[in-house]
Amino acid sequence: MVDIFIFSHMKKLLLLILLPILAKSQQNDSVFIKKISDEILRNGQAYQLLHHLTKNIGGRLAGSPQYNQAVQWSFETFKKLGSDNVFLQDCLVPHWVRGSGDAAFLIKKDETNTKKQLSMVAIGNSLGSQKAITAPLLYIENFDELEKRKDEVKGKIVYFNAGFDPTNIRTFKSYSESGMYRTTSASRAAKYGAVGVVIRSLSEATDNYPHTGAMRYNDSFPKIPAICVGIEDADYFAANTKTGNWVISMKTHGKMLPDTINQNVIAELKGTDFPNEYITVGGHLDSWDICEGAHDDGAGVVQTMEILRAFKALGYQPKHTIRFVLFANEENGLRGALKYADAAKENNEKHIFALESDAGGFTPRGFSFSISQEKLSTIQSWLNLLKPYGTEFLELGGGGADVGPLYRNFKTPLAGFIPDSQRYFDIHHAPSDTFEKVNKRELLLGAINMAALIYLVDKYGI
Ligand SMILES: [Zn+2]
Repeated sequence: MVDIFIFSHMKKLLLLILLPILAKSQQNDSVFIKKISDEILRNGQAYQLLHHLTKNIGGRLAGSPQYNQAVQWSFETFKKLGSDNVFLQDCLVPHWVRGSGDAAFLIKKDETNTKKQLSMVAIGNSLGSQKAITAPLLYIENFDELEKRKDEVKGKIVYFNAGFDPTNIRTFKSYSESGMYRTTSASRAAKYGAVGVVIRSLSEATDNYPHTGAMRYNDSFPKIPAICVGIEDADYFAANTKTGNWVISMKTHGKMLPDTINQNVIAELKGTDFPNEYITVGGHLDSWDICEGAHDDGAGVVQTMEILRAFKALGYQPKHTIRFVLFANEENGLRGALKYADAAKENNEKHIFALESDAGGFTPRGFSFSISQEKLSTIQSWLNLLKPYGTEFLELGGGGADVGPLYRNFKTPLAGFIPDSQRYFDIHHAPSDTFEKVNKRELLLGAINMAALIYLVDKYGI
């Protein structure tokens, strides 16, 4: 009893001594984070860098000449920004090419013979029909309906209307729930004899741009062509084609060439105290071919560069080595991320934290983490330091696709930057993902919050 009394007394005493020290260090942190913020808002280069990446290089799918240009440009940029070390990391990537001349028409087989040209693109990784195919349309709402009507599928082009659930406030939830329609529709329909598939774009946009993305074939079934249509056209299907005699005529030219070599681009600021312990921050350098890849993921690329620039400008010397990583091939293979984590394992590297920005360059809202509840509590004690810059929450919920393999290999604590998500899927993987859709101030605020989090992890560890 006495022991407990003494212990609790000592604890109070210790707290009395520690609290002013903690308060003092939080004060120092808030002063330094304000310096980061002022530096980025006054002198930030992210927006100008994004202009170059999107307008001078443009869409940069794995294996494309534009991807190689993006590698050269970011390598040079990292050097100019004053990194201690910049290197390229080779990885083998899938090489899908879209080809040209893709088109699709919806035709009503009645006395009017109404023919409507669709706003469409082939789904990434799909194999083209090469020549035009024409077949009766089967309108299907979702996979449950496909199973019920499987006897009607043979010889048809199946249209899947399953779309975003509008009731999710976090739009990434809708994306993850309906993503399987893009990735698996072709094989699911081919299993019952379909000759092609059309899907509603994974979006709630109010325009008619089609949204591409990756798909996968199941090798057990024929590899049929697959396209997606813009939301206005999808609504037309829903309003008109459930009944009546409709056919679709489509022509696509996608080809999968042999794997080729691309590179991750990696810059470092060497740690003063723990040079062999790594903090990774990054985004993916590749993008879909039909857009400029401004929000996805040009924003993450230039925010990563901006954090390096700001740290150098402020003369900040990290305790741990910070790696600024631009990953290859996130969009249709994730090979860059896998390579980075596997090379880290081979080299026996110690990875203490990894942060990714791959959710757009919109106004910051928070960060989600793949860590234990206990470690989350430590991180949540930093919330007040980040709040003035827009971070409203630090919560569990996963990092990002490119940092994921680090968790698999090392159980590295991960974080994903979460900006406002209301407009992201309006432009995601569509021709409308352009530089003009990015707001300079919102983009810079993202970099500020990310830089502040990296600073805190570097100083206190996790
Ligand atoms: Zn992305």
